[in-house]
Amino acid sequence: MEAIKFTDFTYYYPNTTKSAIENINLTIEEGEFILIVGPSGGGKSTLLRAINGIVPNFYGGKIKGSVSIYNKNLREYSNREVISKVGFVFQDPEKQIIFNSVERELAFGLENLGYDQKDILRNISEACALFGLNDIRNKNTQNISGGEKQKVEIASVIAMNPEIILFDEPTSQLDPISAEEVSNSIIKLNKDLGKTILVVEQNIDRFIEFADRILFVNEGKIIKDFRKDNIFEYNSDI
Ligand code: ADP
Ligand code: ADP
Repeated sequence: MEAIKFTDFTYYYPNTTKSAIENINLTIEEGEFILIVGPSGGGKSTLLRAINGIVPNFYGGKIKGSVSIYNKNLREYSNREVISKVGFVFQDPEKQIIFNSVERELAFGLENLGYDQKDILRNISEACALFGLNDIRNKNTQNISGGEKQKVEIASVIAMNPEIILFDEPTSQLDPISAEEVSNSIIKLNKDLGKTILVVEQNIDRFIEFADRILFVNEGKIIKDFRKDNIFEYNSDI
């Protein structure tokens, strides 16, 4: 089953004359684990943003071509449908946390989607169990570590049960131990729960043996698409 498909997709941020990503054709199957690598400014974040529609909906600007999720053009989904199908975890947990209470932070997305209290509690409990967060569930978000904050953010996304989860440099702000824990959680989402995962990541060592593909993105294009059979050529090739 096809999870994501870009067709001749080009995007310009507002007031720019150069495209941020250009003529992207890319198909991602359900359950794939994809790493996205490449130099800064190459278009990695923009590629992710196009999958949950914040490019162009939030940023503005203009597109050519289309992005489809499960064989339906993203434009035909409501915002609510996109949020519940496509989760997005950002780089810096400090900038994502809104509430003082971990529990509230976990509940926020589900509240916005209109879930009732019973379902919210059930989904939060499942997500906490998955990430070993039960001990900090009743804490203040100011009193937990950076790694715990990032796990709370991931759990709050998982609680919404998205089929696709996008991670934009999820470990770059974390200490090595937290980074390892968060990486393992991401791998688990793919291997144990079958989620379709795309991770923009500079340090691919933790992920490479679990990845199905590595996309090397530069100058707004997918320059290389390494598959299982040649994925270990990645290091020597570029
Ligand atoms: P990263 O490389 O980690 O994606 P950046 O530091 O390049 O992040 O960008 C941080 C923020 O600044 C992002 O929200 C991005 O959209 C925005 N940004 C990046 N480049 C530009 C630009 N040329 N003009 C305006 N905003 C930009
Ligand atoms: P990467 O994630 O690989 O660092 P980005 O997707 O952030 O690359 O950026 C791709 C291009 O789009 C860059 O030229 C960057 O400057 C530009 N860009 C990113 N965000 C913005 C923004 N908010 N406004 C204008 N230009 C942006």
